[in-house]
Amino acid sequence: MNPVSRRKFLKRGFAGGVTAALLGKSSQAKATESFSGYPEGMGVLVDLTRCVGCRSCEAACNNEQNLPAPERPFDDLSVLEEKRRTTESAYTVVNKYEIPGKDHPLFRKMQCNHCNEPACLSSCFVNAYRKTKEGAVVYDPTVCVGCRTCMVACPFYVPAYSYSSVLNPVVKKCIFCYDTRLRHGRPPACVEACPQEALTFGKRSDLIKLGHQRIGRHPDRYQDHIYGETEVGGTAWMYLSSAPFDQVGFDTGLGTQPIISHVKEFLTMVPMVLTIWPALFAGFHLLANRKDKASDTGAISERKDKENV
Ligand code: SF4
Ligand code: SF4
Ligand code: SF4
Repeated sequence: MNPVSRRKFLKRGFAGGVTAALLGKSSQAKATESFSGYPEGMGVLVDLTRCVGCRSCEAACNNEQNLPAPERPFDDLSVLEEKRRTTESAYTVVNKYEIPGKDHPLFRKMQCNHCNEPACLSSCFVNAYRKTKEGAVVYDPTVCVGCRTCMVACPFYVPAYSYSSVLNPVVKKCIFCYDTRLRHGRPPACVEACPQEALTFGKRSDLIKLGHQRIGRHPDRYQDHIYGETEVGGTAWMYLSSAPFDQVGFDTGLGTQPIISHVKEFLTMVPMVLTIWPALFAGFHLLANRKDKASDTGAISERKDKENV
């Protein structure tokens, strides 16, 4: 589904199911309405003019997050020939873009952008997501029911799912190295690993100033825009580019309103879906847990039977 059709989807409808859940958590919806996204939070400024597509950031993330080894090693740069997206085992990927009229490509690192007003959070009816004061959008996999509403709601196609359990897949995405680094005041592993200083970690408000300084000093080098400063209400991870943002894979039609605004419009339209959706997925969750427990119990009694022989 392309970005436009997905936004329509969100505006019109079925994805109201997405956000249906908001019914069951109207207090959170109210809080989101006036939420300013922790202005003192941290962020990262990604400068595409410095990135050389070396994939060191991917390798560092893989190591920091204990993810499985990729099919092709990180020094295999042939993967840059494909357009990849983040997955359950790759929380960040770098893609290559040929720019019309230029003799060298641009490379763009993708990961969760840690939105100020995250659509994933607003759409999650079991409150699996949380925006921390440091700026990270993190989630609790133990309460995730695998309904994928956050996947549909995210304007950047970020959340992926672990399908190790068919009935209870769990969301997986970049967490801004929250547990191991961010909450201790340390930069993310990917930022530290970048040999080109293409990634700058700092207070989001300072990064916005830095971005505008770079643009002001080198207007010939940069587009006069920081992607993420205002898109969908602002994001903690932001980008500078020498090429128009739509030429490096960004959706430039997202607007400045948080996606939750579209979702709220829909909330008034389909009360029935809103009512049944949480119950439906709560049911799936119970079923999955029961099945897990049953298989655990089965395994235990099987072990006991063997011990008694
Ligand atoms: S980029 Fe997507 S997954 Fe990340 S915080 Fe924003 S809405 Fe959530
Ligand atoms: S911030 Fe951490 S989890 Fe996110 S892409 Fe970088 S290394 Fe991976
Ligand atoms: S480590 Fe830095 S230069 Fe290398 S691909 Fe990642 S962002 Fe680009």
